[in-house]
Amino acid sequence: MDIYRVKPGAQVDLRQWDPDDKAMFDKGKSEGKKAMEKLNRRLEALQELLFAEGKRKVLIVLQAMDTGGKDGVIRWVFDRVNPQGVKVASFKAPTPEELAHDYLWRIHKHTPGKGEMVIFNRSHYEDVLVVRVHNLVPPEVWRRRYAHINAFERMLAEEGTTILKFFLHISKDEQKARLQARLDEPEKRWKFNVGDLGERKLWDEYMRAYETVLSETSTEWAPWYIVPSNRKWYRNLVISDVLVETLEGFDMRYPEPKENLDAVVIE
Ligand code: AMP
Ligand code: MG
Repeated sequence: MDIYRVKPGAQVDLRQWDPDDKAMFDKGKSEGKKAMEKLNRRLEALQELLFAEGKRKVLIVLQAMDTGGKDGVIRWVFDRVNPQGVKVASFKAPTPEELAHDYLWRIHKHTPGKGEMVIFNRSHYEDVLVVRVHNLVPPEVWRRRYAHINAFERMLAEEGTTILKFFLHISKDEQKARLQARLDEPEKRWKFNVGDLGERKLWDEYMRAYETVLSETSTEWAPWYIVPSNRKWYRNLVISDVLVETLEGFDMRYPEPKENLDAVVIE
């Protein structure tokens, strides 16, 4: 899945990244779902071990345009994990209290502790995305933030957090179809947000803002992956695979029992 990782220093042009790509799995959707089931079971075991070992911290950042699939990833990639060791933090428009602080204040307190996996549904990147596109702060303010973010993530990494960042890349046509489905299907209507149509009009501005994010903040310690996301099954497969490979690379061990258990007899 390295083909989807943005190399540090690369200049990203999203028109060169195909949201329909499925180069890493050519056996189709139904085989893809079977492969996914296997990955889900591996992730289940690895997350159990992460929690038992209680040493490492894992942060997963999800960013996407509306309908991009952040909720779907949380539902399907983490299908079998134990909720005891996994948390989701969703970042909405900041509250007055949050706005009274620096933009990383609300983020930092949700970062994972030892043995935990935390999924960010949106993140500090909104502070250089929606904030930039809507001119919520002057350009000289948001332009400084890429350096802050890299330093912040570097600190987290040096203090023991593994960071994986996923941009779920869909096409503008695919967004149209998904918004239409939210209008048409009764069980999806609750997700329809008239405000999303305004954001859709700013599609090109958002793509430019994402390109800067992907070019400036994909680092050795916190890489971005651009996930082709027009196909939901393929998107899930790519993210699961990256996650499983990363956790397998940890070489984790169950902890030793606290005392010698060899002579213990249970009557
Ligand atoms: P949703 O994820 O669909 O529930 O929407 C959350 C909304 O909060 C989105 O429109 C985001 O753009 C917005 N949001 C998240 N973080 C920020 C931020 N730092 N500043 C302004 N808006 C934000
Ligand atoms: Mg939304």
